Amino acid sequence: MSRSEILFNSAQKHIPGGVNSPVRAFRSVGGTPLFFKHAEGAYVIDEDDKRYVDYVGSWGPMILGHSHPEVLDAVRRQLEHGLSYGAPTAMETEMAERVCSLVPSMEMVRMVSSGTEATMSALRLARGYTGRDSIIKFEGCYHGHSDSLLVKAGSGALTQGVPSSAGVPADFARHTLTLPFNDLAAVEATLAEVGQQVACIIVEPVAGNMNCVPPAPGFLEGLRAQCDKHGVVLIFDEVMTGFRVALGGAQAHYGVTPDLSTFGKIVGGGMPVGCFGGKRAIMECIAPLGPVYQAGTLSGNPLAMAAGLTTLKLISRPGFHDELSDYTRTMLEGLRERAKAAGIPFVTTQVGGMFGLYFSEAEAISTFEDVMASDVERFRKFFHLMLEGGVYLAPSAFEAGFTSIVHGETELRLTLDAAERAFARLK
Ligand code: PLP
Repeated sequence: MSRSEILFNSAQKHIPGGVNSPVRAFRSVGGTPLFFKHAEGAYVIDEDDKRYVDYVGSWGPMILGHSHPEVLDAVRRQLEHGLSYGAPTAMETEMAERVCSLVPSMEMVRMVSSGTEATMSALRLARGYTGRDSIIKFEGCYHGHSDSLLVKAGSGALTQGVPSSAGVPADFARHTLTLPFNDLAAVEATLAEVGQQVACIIVEPVAGNMNCVPPAPGFLEGLRAQCDKHGVVLIFDEVMTGFRVALGGAQAHYGVTPDLSTFGKIVGGGMPVGCFGGKRAIMECIAPLGPVYQAGTLSGNPLAMAAGLTTLKLISRPGFHDELSDYTRTMLEGLRERAKAAGIPFVTTQVGGMFGLYFSEAEAISTFEDVMASDVERFRKFFHLMLEGGVYLAPSAFEAGFTSIVHGETELRLTLDAAERAFARLK
């Protein structure tokens, strides 16, 4: 038995499913999850001392690669001064200034401890600001696990959403309308009917939780126009795309300005951090300035601010995001060439340092249905063959992949060699 198998067996005694977040359990790909004990640069190292080129990057934060020396030093320096004060620090102001300067739509920002908290708080704020209860989200988008957001479309989308998790009250879910991603006509029709009840539209500007689906041309612009028309708050959930697809996030990449944005992952540099912010007039509704309550014992935690600020400084150097994007493009081109040579239908998507892989005959991937039509069984086999070849992909056909700035020539060769062997065995 491998060490990972032994550890997974013991983990299941006291941790539900042996994991602290479901996707880690490898249920979508089968087999035993790898237990890691170390990570450096572009690699994760498992308990059996096997090294893998990492395309998960802790689900997005590790854009600089693992254990970046400057990030670790910043955390070590802060460590000498204590772990948490529950009182304001100079670093929080520095962080707020940096986030607001990198993302101009952010006039004010509040730090929290996860992406879930960021989106949950942004929704409450939008509801408090507008005095409306309903929200619109899109099928296949994930915004964390708060009650309002674990909802799928009911039989008539215009009427009511239904919970997608046990424990979410139906009374709550009915305020969430779920529409098809990239379908502006559905948004127009819904707002024409119930626009006066809708507090906000929340969207992943690049959908990264149903693999990786870029917005159709005009979709984000259309959302902006519809929100303006109906007095609805537009929220970009940039927990995944923020500081990754461009320094200024997807809103900079696509040139569409939301009212509120949520961030996580990179903004904490690998520590538990999220934040939300946007228009001053909306943000001023938050306590202690306004009536919308929101708080957190560890919000703005000094260690987390040290890791996040250093990460944001390092990724702000000119050319950083172009390099990240270039590696990603070259790697995906290499994968497509090898799949083609092996006669395997294979499609990729990419926005900057974020990508999707599909075993599919489709020309392009732009809807939830396109994603669902891909060959998940083939992905499962590919995933395990790549693992055997020393490459760690996201253990699900419905998650985006991430590259880091330290993925280079060596990792490219390792990845493409492993893929060539994997494609040959998939035939
Ligand atoms: N929003 C998006 C777009 C995400 O991808 C995620 C997590 O992957 C979240 C929100 C929730 O963030 P967290 O897992 O930090 O709670």
